[in-house]
Amino acid sequence: MAGMKATALDLLQSVFGYPGFRGQQQAVIEHLGEGGDALVLMPTGGGKSLCYQIPALLRQGTAIVVSPLIALMQDQVDALREAGVAAAYLNSSLAADAQREVERQLLAGELNLLYVAPERLLTARFLEQLERTEVALFAIDEAHCVSQWGHDFRPEYRELAILHQRFPQVPRIALTATADPRTREEIVERLSLQNARQFVSSFDRPNIGYRVGLRHNAKRQLGEFLLGHEGESGIVYCLSRRKVDDTAAWLAESGIEALPYHAGLDAATRAKNQQRFLREDGVVMVATVAFGMGIDKPDVRFVAHLDLPRSIEGYYQETGRAGRDGLPAEAWMIYGLSDVVTMSQMIAQSESADERKRVERQKLESLLAYAEATDCRRQLLLGAFGETYPGPCGHCDNCIAPPKTWDATVPAQKALSAVYRTGQRFGSGHVIDVLRGEETERVLGLDHHRLSTFGIGAEMDEKQWRSVFRQLLAAGLLEADAEGYGTLRLTTASRAVLSGGRPVKLREDARPERASRRRRDSKQVTGGSLGIEAYEQPMWDELRALRTQLAKQQGVPPYVVFHDATLLAMLRALPANEDELAGISGVGEAKLKRYGRDFLAVINAAG
Ligand code: ADP
Ligand code: ZN
Repeated sequence: MAGMKATALDLLQSVFGYPGFRGQQQAVIEHLGEGGDALVLMPTGGGKSLCYQIPALLRQGTAIVVSPLIALMQDQVDALREAGVAAAYLNSSLAADAQREVERQLLAGELNLLYVAPERLLTARFLEQLERTEVALFAIDEAHCVSQWGHDFRPEYRELAILHQRFPQVPRIALTATADPRTREEIVERLSLQNARQFVSSFDRPNIGYRVGLRHNAKRQLGEFLLGHEGESGIVYCLSRRKVDDTAAWLAESGIEALPYHAGLDAATRAKNQQRFLREDGVVMVATVAFGMGIDKPDVRFVAHLDLPRSIEGYYQETGRAGRDGLPAEAWMIYGLSDVVTMSQMIAQSESADERKRVERQKLESLLAYAEATDCRRQLLLGAFGETYPGPCGHCDNCIAPPKTWDATVPAQKALSAVYRTGQRFGSGHVIDVLRGEETERVLGLDHHRLSTFGIGAEMDEKQWRSVFRQLLAAGLLEADAEGYGTLRLTTASRAVLSGGRPVKLREDARPERASRRRRDSKQVTGGSLGIEAYEQPMWDELRALRTQLAKQQGVPPYVVFHDATLLAMLRALPANEDELAGISGVGEAKLKRYGRDFLAVINAAG
């Protein structure tokens, strides 16, 4: 392209095949193009990569991308090469001669982008090589790794400020999907980005629908939920390794491609299962939260939680692994009163200092409040990150079917009073027996049948009482003991209820699986989240099969060939020739040349 300079939009269209920029991408790209520094905060799937990949192509020299995740590096480089971009990576996974070849390419100025692990970047040898190279820009991905407070702390990240000292004229861009303000300040300070312009996007993930329900029978509920996601990739999170193994085995028996993943499996099995999840269509990974960090798979269609996660932050991160490609995805969770007890136990029995335990209990409480909420869940979630989301989203269970509430003031008073009268030393099971007037051995042994509260709640069954206790806990009107025995105590807020000064509204427990039954019956969702109609299914399967075959030949995951979004656009537009195919979002020049004929053959054969 001698003499003629391509614009950012030209590159977006010709190399990546996308018609237009998203959100703040263009502003970031222009700012970097002019030599400015930038700090970019965008949610997962927001499109951070293009913010440095396009400037890398616009500017002279090689862009150096610092990334802590080896698997992700390889994926990105594969994807860039597929799009015809000269990209490479340097990390410990490369053999010595392959490393030397990459270094040669760097010094010869043959690379547009080079991904490096931070420890490699900081070696004297590499920094010297950079001094003999024309560097287009530095991109520091996953910039929250500088934060000591986060889960992903990487000590080497703190030394990256050296880039600014050694290469003051080279623009830098730091990127993260971590929203909280304290982390942001730490990034600015640690990476000397005081003069960087900050680009902060909304952390909303509009394509993700949120659904939370009570757990009655986890397997049956999960089974019904999965009916709406046949043939799709997803992650099912469980709290314990045993439950992971058990659930994965049960799903596999039911004919679903499900694999387990947890820290108790040997490294080879873990690697194999992860590889299959990435490389095959429609694999369901059943995992503990150990799984998912650094997984860049764009077409995860659902994330299901069978147990409560630890905090809203954790929940948002885990659910955020769904729908990176922007297509419809679902975050689904079921939980029960026993989760609250288990979690309280885990916190109580941990080695942490008291202050830390207090924070963890607060986090559990806000998550419970989220789970039991009767208002828009998206509003609550974003509120937890300091973002004001205007109005109900229309795309969470509470917006779609507002939960019925009932005046539970009197039952709440009865429950609290029974907790008090029994001495605040028992779990909900015994207190419910007292309320219902059950003359159990324990009740009689403790003389609890003589209490004034004995039998005052006989009008409600055990299940209804459990719902009341669960919601009182979630509302902070009761608390589980810090020692974790599951015994219930009053809180300072309980008094107002007992004295009649505070009405209590509780939700009627809906059965969450109803929604999925409805979905199954409606014709429109035969093909799961993507809404593929029955008549489209054969062509969709053929397109996916071709993609898998081509991906295997190249040794890359299928989504590196084309994303689901691109296949879906082909399915709907049925392009008849190369010109029409080039107009599909996600089909760039290099991919058109490499794969165009094969995809057109499949499409035209059906015509
Ligand atoms: P992040 O790193 O912020 O999680 P990515 O950079 O991986 O997100 O982008 C998420 C997905 O969105 C990718 O599949 C990417 O190809 C796609 N994407 C990014 N920008 C655009 C755009 N302007 N138009 C269409 N798709 C885009
Ligand atoms: Zn909503």
